[in-house]
Amino acid sequence: MHVFLDLMWFFKTRKKHYTIGILLLISVSFIGLFPPRIIGRFVDHVQHHTLTAQFVWLSVVSIGLMAPAMYVLRYYWRVLLFGSAIELSTTLRLRLFQHLSKMSPTFYQKHRVGDLMAHATNDIQAVESTATDGILTLVDSISTGLLVIATMAVTIDWKLTIAALLPMPIMAYTTSRYGNILHRRFEVAQAAFSDLNDKVHESVNGVRAIKAFGQEDNDIASFSALSQDVVQKNMAVARIDALFDPTIQVIVGASFFLAFAVGAVFVVHHQLTLGDLTSFSIYLGQLIWPMLAFGFLFNIVERGRASHDRVQAILSIAPDIVDPPHALHHVESGDLTYQIQRFVYPGSHDAALLDVQFTLKPGQTLGVVGKTGSGKTTLLRLLLREFDVDDGDIFIGEHTIYGVTLDEVRRHIAYVPQDHFLFSASVADNIAFGRFGATRDEIESVAKLASVHDDILGFPQGYDTLVGERGVTLSGGQKQRISIARALLLDTDILMLDDCLSAVDARTEAAILAGIKSRGGRQTTLIATHRLSAVEHADLILVLQGGRISERGTHSELMAKRGWYATMYEHQQLEAMVEQGGAV
Ligand code: ADP
Repeated sequence: MHVFLDLMWFFKTRKKHYTIGILLLISVSFIGLFPPRIIGRFVDHVQHHTLTAQFVWLSVVSIGLMAPAMYVLRYYWRVLLFGSAIELSTTLRLRLFQHLSKMSPTFYQKHRVGDLMAHATNDIQAVESTATDGILTLVDSISTGLLVIATMAVTIDWKLTIAALLPMPIMAYTTSRYGNILHRRFEVAQAAFSDLNDKVHESVNGVRAIKAFGQEDNDIASFSALSQDVVQKNMAVARIDALFDPTIQVIVGASFFLAFAVGAVFVVHHQLTLGDLTSFSIYLGQLIWPMLAFGFLFNIVERGRASHDRVQAILSIAPDIVDPPHALHHVESGDLTYQIQRFVYPGSHDAALLDVQFTLKPGQTLGVVGKTGSGKTTLLRLLLREFDVDDGDIFIGEHTIYGVTLDEVRRHIAYVPQDHFLFSASVADNIAFGRFGATRDEIESVAKLASVHDDILGFPQGYDTLVGERGVTLSGGQKQRISIARALLLDTDILMLDDCLSAVDARTEAAILAGIKSRGGRQTTLIATHRLSAVEHADLILVLQGGRISERGTHSELMAKRGWYATMYEHQQLEAMVEQGGAV
């Protein structure tokens, strides 16, 4: 039952709702005690021929008044308890979402999207139901149960009550056993559902690759296998779930049998009136729901506990990139200095960067080139503080980025990743993503710099055209240029372009880079690229090889060295010439 204690923080915030709701619930149980007594008296009067018109009227009127009262009370406790639980799931979902948005890429490497989705949907729903059905069944099984049992024992006969309740311990035992099995099977079913979620996520994301390799049938087959697995595991849950009701019904039946057997003997020996036995049997009927609720309680609480633990486990993972105590909230920009001795990705053994040192003055451009896997992206991403460097440092102006709040570091930087992401929103909103409230003029001016303005004007609704599932399909090059416009709109001190122009031709790329430079050269720019012509005009070019700088200098210095850079540059020039049909 500790899930109720775990949720206490929430019950406290909605103390009034829960207190009134529970009081109303108990009031309903209390009012419900009267009709059986009235009916019992009625039977006695009939048996002894003492029934008066006055008694009949009084009974009819009082039962007639109780019915609407119970109706109203039942309505309000439902509104109070169920309304509060919706609040709980909203709060939990928001917490989870906020927590997830703080996590670093390392977290997302370890946790599958499908699992996280399952936490945000199924698990939170199960916790919500603990806060409603759980509380309802707890209060109902205890308050109604005890009230009814006490009324039976005190106002009718305690011996008969004991006899009728004898099967109760068996019920407590079986329901708790079923509850345990249910808990285990539910966990397994939930894990299978997560796998299925993951599969759907992966298939939808990878639909192009699946089609390109003609793997649709295999993909459907593996989906179907996972789907079957979910069915089987949920069937196992349903089978144990299905045992609850019949078991309880048998026990309730046994209870009635004992009540009538013993009660009949008492009536024959005049220890009990027929009216009392009638009231008693109605009370026993009223105990069926609290008894069932008792069984459900295990069920609901078990599910709620499993789900709550899973959500809590995610919430308790501390973000691995946190602001140090006394982190600076504001730093002036200045030189950008990398002094990295060694950087190893978490969970990896080999260094991704070794001995990378350079300084850029404000407005200078750095070109980072090298083979795939040489460390170009890593070099850029370290500045974003997605991962912390243990052996080395990076400075913005005078300050190490590790002594500055994450928000402040990122305020200085605009980053265009390789795998750009556009949202299902208008083109204008996608560009203004980092600065809501930017004017249309500002948006258009960065779109012009990114050489995408003319393309956008060609879309059906221009800047208001929707992107994504419900809108236009953009080419890779258009997406890349919109991503660049988005970064340019931020107008930060530092701009990082991570091989983000691979899908545009060399001429457009040159136009975009010239556009960026034309902004007055305020922005320190870091460009990682495969196309060496993109960094020809950079103030410093680093050639990376296996995470180390193998060559460094300006374009002309590197050409003079006749190393990898020079060979590659000439090779690429030749390729470009061939593509253009031999004309230079
Ligand atoms: P490039 O951008 O030059 O292609 P990267 O910076 O992406 O190179 O990768 C450099 C090296 O770091 C590669 O060996 C790559 O496998 C490794 N690496 C990249 N990202 C991660 C990560 N998240 N975890 C572990 N290793 C990584």
